[in-house]
Amino acid sequence: MRSKCQAASGKSVHGAEKEFGGTLGAVCITTFLPLTLLSLVCGSRSPDGALLRWPPPLPSPEQLWDPRAPPLLLSWIALHAFLYSLPLGKVCEGIRLRDGTRLKYPVNGFHSLCISGALLVLLLTLDVPVAFLFKLTLPLATCATGVSFALSAYLYVRSFWAPPHALALGGNTGNVLYDFFIGRELNPRIGHFDLKYFCELRPGLIGWVVLNFGVLMQEVELRGSASLAMILVNSFQLLYVADALWNEEAVLTTMDIAHDGFGFMLVFGDLSWVPFAYGLQAAFLVEHPQDLSPPAVAAIVALKGIGYYIFRKSNSQKNQFRRNPAHPSVARLETIATATGKRLLVSGWWGLVRHPNYLGDLLMALAWSLPCGFSHLLPYFYVIYFAVLLVHREARDDRQCRAKYGAAWDEYCRRVPYRILPYVY
Ligand code: NDP
Repeated sequence: MRSKCQAASGKSVHGAEKEFGGTLGAVCITTFLPLTLLSLVCGSRSPDGALLRWPPPLPSPEQLWDPRAPPLLLSWIALHAFLYSLPLGKVCEGIRLRDGTRLKYPVNGFHSLCISGALLVLLLTLDVPVAFLFKLTLPLATCATGVSFALSAYLYVRSFWAPPHALALGGNTGNVLYDFFIGRELNPRIGHFDLKYFCELRPGLIGWVVLNFGVLMQEVELRGSASLAMILVNSFQLLYVADALWNEEAVLTTMDIAHDGFGFMLVFGDLSWVPFAYGLQAAFLVEHPQDLSPPAVAAIVALKGIGYYIFRKSNSQKNQFRRNPAHPSVARLETIATATGKRLLVSGWWGLVRHPNYLGDLLMALAWSLPCGFSHLLPYFYVIYFAVLLVHREARDDRQCRAKYGAAWDEYCRRVPYRILPYVY
């Protein structure tokens, strides 16, 4: 009862259950994830391309620094902050907050992606060698890591001026290291500018596909044309980013925006991990070109198509159901009532497994790695890491849903016993 009252008011919940292995886990992730990132980027560019080499490849200080990287990175973030602020697209409301209000968010990320694409085309027509992005990747990753630490420190300090109801329930344990990592404030804003929403889908996500394009141009510089494997990886990942931005308002109901505070975990993930670790496959292909047979290409494209279909259909079905349960596309689905007044789907995609969207996402992740062949483990890093992340994320969501829905959630789990993969897990 005591912790429930404190949680509702947003006051410190000292001794509250910590996630990600508690303080030790938070310190280890904060220390080792940036090192892992730099090692992975370095490894993806080395001729041996080994993932499990000991000691792991680490870049030399000269590889980490280039005076062009800081202005380039900061200009990129500033450009996207400017595009965010333009009166393009529509404005949507987020979920209801604990004080009963709902924040407004600009939904114009897809415009930002298109404008970024147009700027790239302009650079190409001006004969700017876009392949320099490939050479600058390590210095850019170093700067992004520095920016992530600086922004997280700013967010931590400013959270002490936030009203209690504006703090995330899980980010207010009183332990400096853990709270810095997990994030104290739920929706930190400067005026109307929402820092978490901005970072979630813009500079990092769009930066990822722009870096990928730089890698493709590096291949063109080296070999005269882009390989089919490189085109597949680039187009699959571009589709993923374009889809996320086309459906941008769906992010407003995700765990990241609705539940988690904005701290190092999300800042580093958004600004450093996504753009630099998610593009390993393309970088690997520069040193390790692959010849793909037509049947292999057809199988990879089919896998990506099936994964995308499951991912998009299941996410759209739940979003539609949460927005308007009376909509004809979801009105006939079987549901169970919960004490909160919200209902849970038990048929359709959400009756197949409890996270059909994760299943689709994982199939797509595998399709991004397969164009790199089977000689190395490194291009499969993303799919392995992502499987671990989604299994852990599913467990977190399961805990949160059980706390929210109680017996109704247990009933849902009984009716839909598998979490991600039917008959396996
Ligand atoms: P989900 O979109 O899976 O949402 C989980 C929430 O959905 C639950 O908390 C609950 O919230 C609601 N829900 C669960 N079951 C049901 C049901 N049967 N009926 C109705 N509502 C239900 O959460 P995520 O934010 O984890 O994932 C969103 C997408 O983002 C996924 O496709 C995932 O794969 C992707 N993703 C990608 C990452 C990447 O790095 N590439 C990282 C993380 C996620 P409530 O009841 O409160 O509405």
